[in-house]
Amino acid sequence: MAVLLVTNDDGIHAAGLAALAAALDDLGEVHVLAPEREQSACGHALTLHRPLSVHRWGERRHSVNGTPSDCVNLGVLGFLPERPVLVVSGVNHGSNLGDDVTYSGTVSAAMEGTLLGVPSIAVSLVEGDELEHAARVARHVAMRVLVEGLPPMTMLNINVPTGVPKGVRVTRLGHRVYSGKIVEQADPRGRPHYWIGAGPPAWDALDGTDMGAVHEGYAAVTPLHLDLTHHRALAQMTEWEPALNAALRARPRGERAPASAAAPSNAASRASASATSRDAASRPSAAPPAQPKRTRKRRRA
Ligand code: MN
Repeated sequence: MAVLLVTNDDGIHAAGLAALAAALDDLGEVHVLAPEREQSACGHALTLHRPLSVHRWGERRHSVNGTPSDCVNLGVLGFLPERPVLVVSGVNHGSNLGDDVTYSGTVSAAMEGTLLGVPSIAVSLVEGDELEHAARVARHVAMRVLVEGLPPMTMLNINVPTGVPKGVRVTRLGHRVYSGKIVEQADPRGRPHYWIGAGPPAWDALDGTDMGAVHEGYAAVTPLHLDLTHHRALAQMTEWEPALNAALRARPRGERAPASAAAPSNAASRASASATSRDAASRPSAAPPAQPKRTRKRRRA
């Protein structure tokens, strides 16, 4: 039976994780490998500065003292009896919509699976604790992915609204409007501290976006591409290359051309160039001052 890896960022004891594992149970051999503590908003962090330990909670159920991406790394690269055919992360308690996906531990777990070559899905419940609908949507999307596969470097991000979804919409990411300001307060000793991420979220156009779909009561399924290269910008910017190279080759202002030993040099400029060359000029028999060896080739490179 094919191995499925289920993880999350809310921790091994989260209700959303159990609901997801139960919903996928008959699609394969489900293994749960999740952080021992909540890691929400941890992003794509990996633990590289200390070893990871794994705690066994039951058959095919383990926690890791690390991040969601750590769990996926362990699961895909050898901790499980075989390489999983699917990674599903969630069900997260709270939405992971639009630009917020870059902060999300839930989404990052699916990104990690994708980067390791395993089709991966992230699932979030926008609000409330009616997990069964989100788990059900996840199950249907997972079945589809197991049959159809996903394009290379592509993962799916699912957000399910409160209550029974009216249906599913395949969407693009919405974009936040950053109207909020930092909130400055004073601690009891009068020292300032700051809150970020305060204020109600605002979004630009809702049409066709994940935010819009959820707002209208639909589950949003957004394909995300992990090749972050902007290929159109790349094509446009190739003309930057010669200009940047010319600028890098140009001497910083005020720096004189190094007097090459071979090249005939102007005595006056050599005399004023440095103490060394002044010394050399006053001793006509001395060899020309040694200069840092810079080949013409290097300067042209
Ligand atoms: Mn979370």
